[in-house]
Amino acid sequence: MATALEYDIKYLSGVGERRAALLEKELGIRTFGDLLYYFPFRYVDRTKVYRIGDVGGDAPAYIQVKGRVTGMAYEGQGRKQRLRVTVSDGSGSADLVWFQGAKWIEKRIEPGKEYLVFGRPTLFRNELSFVHPEMDLVARLANRPSGGLQGVYSTTEKLSGVQLGSKGIYNLVCNMWEQVEGYITETLPSGILESAGLMPLREALYNIHFPQNQEALRRAEYRLKFEELLGIQLSILSRRATRTTAENGFYFPRVGTFFNGFYNERLPFELTGAQKRVVREIRADTVTGHQMNRLLQGDVGSGKTLVALMAMLLAADNGFQSCMMVPTEILARQHFASVSRMVEGLGISVGVLTGSTKKKERDDILARLADGRMHILIGTHALLEDRVRFDNLGLVVIDEQHRFGVEQRARMWTKNSVPPHILVMTATPIPRTLAMTLYGDLDVSVIDELPPGRKPILTRHLYDSQRMKLFGFLRSEIAKGRQVYVVYPLIKESEKMDYKDLYDGFETMSREFPLPEYRLSVVHGKLSSEEKNEGMRAFKDGETQIMVATSVIEVGVDVPNATVMVIESAERFGLSQLHQLRGRVGRGAEQSYCILMSGDKLSREARARLDAMVETNDGFRLSELDLKLRGAGDISGTQQSGTAFELKIASLAHDTAIIEYARRVAGEILSEDSALQQPQNRLLAALRRRYENHGGVDFGMIS
Ligand code: ADP
Ligand code: MG
Repeated sequence: MATALEYDIKYLSGVGERRAALLEKELGIRTFGDLLYYFPFRYVDRTKVYRIGDVGGDAPAYIQVKGRVTGMAYEGQGRKQRLRVTVSDGSGSADLVWFQGAKWIEKRIEPGKEYLVFGRPTLFRNELSFVHPEMDLVARLANRPSGGLQGVYSTTEKLSGVQLGSKGIYNLVCNMWEQVEGYITETLPSGILESAGLMPLREALYNIHFPQNQEALRRAEYRLKFEELLGIQLSILSRRATRTTAENGFYFPRVGTFFNGFYNERLPFELTGAQKRVVREIRADTVTGHQMNRLLQGDVGSGKTLVALMAMLLAADNGFQSCMMVPTEILARQHFASVSRMVEGLGISVGVLTGSTKKKERDDILARLADGRMHILIGTHALLEDRVRFDNLGLVVIDEQHRFGVEQRARMWTKNSVPPHILVMTATPIPRTLAMTLYGDLDVSVIDELPPGRKPILTRHLYDSQRMKLFGFLRSEIAKGRQVYVVYPLIKESEKMDYKDLYDGFETMSREFPLPEYRLSVVHGKLSSEEKNEGMRAFKDGETQIMVATSVIEVGVDVPNATVMVIESAERFGLSQLHQLRGRVGRGAEQSYCILMSGDKLSREARARLDAMVETNDGFRLSELDLKLRGAGDISGTQQSGTAFELKIASLAHDTAIIEYARRVAGEILSEDSALQQPQNRLLAALRRRYENHGGVDFGMIS
């Protein structure tokens, strides 16, 4: 049954072929229904109309005035030409200025008529003016559904170019409303509407576009957010139930000579309480007969690798192979070196495979993997290739999991006939509510304790103008025998510029820290992997005191003697990246430092990030803050998760309480009717289907 909601948007009055094509391309709006679900991102209060003469310096950012057009003229020449319209309301007059689209405005504005003018006021020498305000003919306002609040719709430059700025989109929604409202059918069961005190759908959609007042808007938002989050939670919790009831996980009952040998003879230190707890959790997971799906969160340096190694030894004790996938070649080689060292003499065979592994070596690794002689394989994306075949893969560890896409991860599960156990690790802590939604299908372990003896890292923020102070400090640390990282941002869009920063920086550093007293390593993405390895090795072995690098060293590098991390143009890094970088130091017994260098001019957000870094070392607090500053859409791990994770209206950062409530409701419903077959749950089954692929990284569905 085709309803008006499915009509092609081109048939809406005010659209037509050309705009329809743009609406689809720019905003993904193809049908009336798509437009109906294209919500304003904020609202402006249009209940108050200012008298022009009363507007002072304390006026809000946007205001409206009402007045008659008393003058209209072009000023200036050529590209500087602008249209100036004067409106007066008896108390004074204001100038309205258009630099662009003046012709279009000129044609539409009728001198002598009364207009409602809405925009950002500027006061200069007591003259009030507005640049590019919105204009509404007062006589025509009467038949608009708008209440006191007007929605502001996000749009694009191209759409604005065809008169589909925020106001234009608003007009389309106005044109459409009457045609669609009769077709809006309720999507939630009446029982839930009642128990959760929700506004019915039609009313909510009306008020989201045309709020009658603040209270109605709040209730409309609440209803739509709740529905969205309920759909996601129903989907996540159902998937989870499927996984934990399927009897098809490998069974690791034995704690044998590999695990015990390592624990009793090779482990160079006592495990922290948190590490012990996580090892116990993994042991418990692997004897249930279900597939383990565990996320291990732990701040940088908390000792996740060691936990992963113990899980891999457990697998080996039970006759299974394991692999560990890491995002960079440097990290793969480093893990390989440290794991090989730790299991020396235990009879465990470990290999490393990356894109640059030579053919002969690779053939040897693949052969030993295929016939089961190799127990543990560490590597990069190269592990995903089809030719990498295991004899009996029982456990997959993924380090820095946010660096991998869902598809890449899912490829690993197909490397055995039964999906192997999965342990994904991240040092980018995820706030609880986000984890609940994004990783709703995972069990979460947290290492919330650092190995003993670590001194908190001291963080300072210096401006570029204080560089001499920085050099002095670096000399004194190097004189004590310590090593230093200097890291430059690398952002894809402007690679050239970034490398220029790095090279300039390297030159400055070489001048300030000359041979023979000082030696520098330089590592960045443009080098061959031999050059990278050599640079890393020299630094690790203490032959060089300074490592100049791009953020390729962000992840996982472990050089305990390095005590200073200098981050150049720190304002260009996100919080979680800054925190990751800082985690490269503070790994030994010495006091470590992180120095954030920045320009003098900082945006408010950049300043908030740098201040937060100076103030705290707590990764969880930083990630909560990051979420607040950036919104969940941007947080690392979200956009890379690869799931269709676009929330229409709810915010993972701000709607914590609704997320928790929706999860509880979803849990209660599913516990009584997991298939959603009962008649009162019919609508919920449809809702769950709508969010089938949302939320919760899909760690390989079990068939
Ligand atoms: P993560 O991967 O969580 O950032 P790592 O596993 O790289 O951390 O561990 C950081 C450093 O701490 C390594 O040098 C590791 O050997 C050491 N380490 C791990 N666990 C302990 C422990 N329980 N006691 C002392 N040092 C530890
Ligand atoms: Mg690590």
